Amino acid sequence: MLYANRMLYADVILPLPLPGTYTYEVPEEWVLGIKVGSSVEVPFGKSKLYTGLVAALHQIKPAGVETKAILGLASDEPLVNEGHLHFWRWLAEYYVHPLGEVMSAAIPAAFRLSSEMRIMLNPEFNHDFSALDDRAYLVAEALAEHQELSLSDVQKILQRKTVQPVIRDLIKAGVAQLREEMKPGYKPKKRKVVLLAPPYAGADGKFGDSAEMRDLFDKLEKKAPKQLALLLAWMHASRDGEPVYRKMLLDKSGASPAAYKALLEKGVLEEREETVSRLESGWEEGALPKLSPNQQAALECIHEQAAEHETVLLHGITSSGKTALYMHLMAEAAAEGKQALFLVPEIALTSQLTGRLRKVFGDRIGIYHSRFNMNERVETWQAVKHGDFDFVIGARSAVFLPFKNLGLVVVDEEHDSSYKQFDPAPRYHARDAAVYLAHQHGAKVLLGSATPSLESYTNALQGKYGLVQLMERFSGQDLPTVNIVDLKDEAKKQRLTGHLSDTLAEHIQGALDRREQIILFQNRRGYAPTIRCGSCGWIPHCIHCDVSLTYHKHSDQLRCHMCGYRRPGVTACPSCSSAQLSYQGFGTEKIEDELALRFPSARVARMDHDTVGGKRDHERLISDFEQREIEILVGTQMVTKGLDFAGVSLVGILNADALLWFPDFRSTERAFQLMAQVSGRAGRAGHGEVLIQTWEPARELLRQVIDHDYERFYAREVEQRQQWSYPPFSRLIRLTFKHRDVDKAFGASRLIAQRLRDELGTRVLGPASPPVARIRGRYLQEILLKLEKSPEMARKARAAIRHAKDALAVHDQFKSVELSVNVDPM
Ligand code: ADP
Ligand code: ZN
Ligand code: ZN
Repeated sequence: MLYANRMLYADVILPLPLPGTYTYEVPEEWVLGIKVGSSVEVPFGKSKLYTGLVAALHQIKPAGVETKAILGLASDEPLVNEGHLHFWRWLAEYYVHPLGEVMSAAIPAAFRLSSEMRIMLNPEFNHDFSALDDRAYLVAEALAEHQELSLSDVQKILQRKTVQPVIRDLIKAGVAQLREEMKPGYKPKKRKVVLLAPPYAGADGKFGDSAEMRDLFDKLEKKAPKQLALLLAWMHASRDGEPVYRKMLLDKSGASPAAYKALLEKGVLEEREETVSRLESGWEEGALPKLSPNQQAALECIHEQAAEHETVLLHGITSSGKTALYMHLMAEAAAEGKQALFLVPEIALTSQLTGRLRKVFGDRIGIYHSRFNMNERVETWQAVKHGDFDFVIGARSAVFLPFKNLGLVVVDEEHDSSYKQFDPAPRYHARDAAVYLAHQHGAKVLLGSATPSLESYTNALQGKYGLVQLMERFSGQDLPTVNIVDLKDEAKKQRLTGHLSDTLAEHIQGALDRREQIILFQNRRGYAPTIRCGSCGWIPHCIHCDVSLTYHKHSDQLRCHMCGYRRPGVTACPSCSSAQLSYQGFGTEKIEDELALRFPSARVARMDHDTVGGKRDHERLISDFEQREIEILVGTQMVTKGLDFAGVSLVGILNADALLWFPDFRSTERAFQLMAQVSGRAGRAGHGEVLIQTWEPARELLRQVIDHDYERFYAREVEQRQQWSYPPFSRLIRLTFKHRDVDKAFGASRLIAQRLRDELGTRVLGPASPPVARIRGRYLQEILLKLEKSPEMARKARAAIRHAKDALAVHDQFKSVELSVNVDPM
């Protein structure tokens, strides 16, 4: 035997914010089954149990520490292989984040067993309970008797719901400890199916034409016509003798339970339990879309570029038909026996897009995103691992799927900032991670966008990426005409009453008259960003964050968009009792109201975080708009992304200036992308028009949007970035310190800034307060590292950050300060 005579050890990744792995002994009985990538149950600390993942197996006894044994294997087969682990390690290293938490982000929660809190008696306690109060005493007594209690046991003992404070006291007093009880999380879905019983079924399970069968038919026809009907229904549903889903059989045939039972008892039919997939299936495959000559030329160009580059950027204007190209490339990958991953921004993962892919790829494509429930994710995971899917369409986290043989990654709307994970960490960028992943697999990457990110376009111009352009719309239509509405001018002519200029309103009326649809974009939700007292200047603020509260009229509430805090609306100033409250600024709700006044018969809907809670709401709005149940759609950035509606002829951007208010080096880029993208929703089938309302019509950026001039926008913007050495000319890493105590947040950030300066000098900027300096009751301080782009510098900076984190973790005063690291912040 391979491991004869010597103890086998497993280095295990634990789902905790710990930097490395922990070594455990592998007991004899698990030696044969355990593999790299296996999920294992292990003890940790005094009384905790976790599910970890085996990162390595070896026979080297760790020096100087006592090793514990793994308790068992948590899965039959490994979840991932060496290659996937390598990807995790790269991600942990690049984004300076503990490997254990990368693992937690990578695998569906169901593979990390769910734990249910239980408390146990601390074996080291001396059983002197005299110092405890009455409640704690009761629980301690029960613990002494039973050793271990669940939360609901404690609730019963105390006859009350809230028991956590008591448990906390017990733990503090050293009487009790927490134990995480492990329970398998994933449950396969079962259902009952019905088959023909052996005497009647042929070898293939089919209904044979035997003497028994004819006999049975005769008997049933005479004595039990209902049973015969049921049997015929089974034959009809089964076709080739396949098992039939019981519920479907009974529902469709309308048979009585008695008839069904009789056939079971006569041994004609039999029941079996079957594991069924939760994944939707039954989609017919279809033909690939036939490419236009322009698309065909672009496809050939992509092939040429891909021969020389791992990554190719497809710069294709809105509605040029990039999706058809993606589909052709994906089909080519599959023809070579490889898998293809199609990444899209979360919000773009609509039935519109998945429907288009399903029509071509049928059941060969899997869907993966965070709004799927745990069990569905597990099944997609397993299907990808076993190679049951040739393609996967997914959001961000799909980069972690256990591909067997990845040949292609498509990143649609590659500029989209939602590819960057923010909270919880690891704060990875899915596009960048995909480029690394593909490199590791020897796969190709296609980045697609009408408005490429500065980073990707620069890479393409520098020859790191291939570049392919598709500058005509598939329909042959021109890009929409973009016009500016000068709000100063409208105001002077008294053509601006609310926030809709008369010019925009007239165009809306025109489109409505022609039975065309309209999209209006306003990048603020709620009614008014805030209200203000006209006599004393009072503004409502969040009690947890340093921001003013947004007024939501439909719910008559003031809400914090940072933490979700809400309070009822006010009719008088709480500070001076004046009733002169005025609304400052405007959000999507306000526009909806103004539309209702000006176009009382138009069907208006709003799409923002307040109206779109779940996936369903979003899909319903999109489908209503598609069916033209809705004429005017008002929304935040949600309406700018990837939607393809033939009926939209007019797009209005209500406040272009507000897009540039963000104090952020990316604000110009983001503003251009948003305006160009939302414009691209207009005129997909016929002529389109875009109206941009602004107080500053002379802005150069607006000119670039009017001219659809990406090149010029890029040239201007890249000049600015170079001048101030912002990305792509440098690499940024942001460190954020958070604490309830403002002095601790400040002290810790100053201390760490100093340490970092010792190693990185003037590359360290700050600490400083961010624009919102307190969120959820915690004060924030930030340090920004601006690093030249070289692998050595990246290594040096990461090492410096790790040292700083370690120093903070053991610092007497500051160890409770939370430090989060954001590499390549967006
Ligand atoms: P993009 O993603 O570049 O904005 P889409 O892929 O959404 O553009 O294509 C725009 C429209 O043109 C869609 O309605 C799409 O169905 C249609 N289309 C694009 N290419 C083809 C093709 N080869 N055959 C048929 N329809 C196409
Ligand atoms: Zn007041
Ligand atoms: Zn708040």
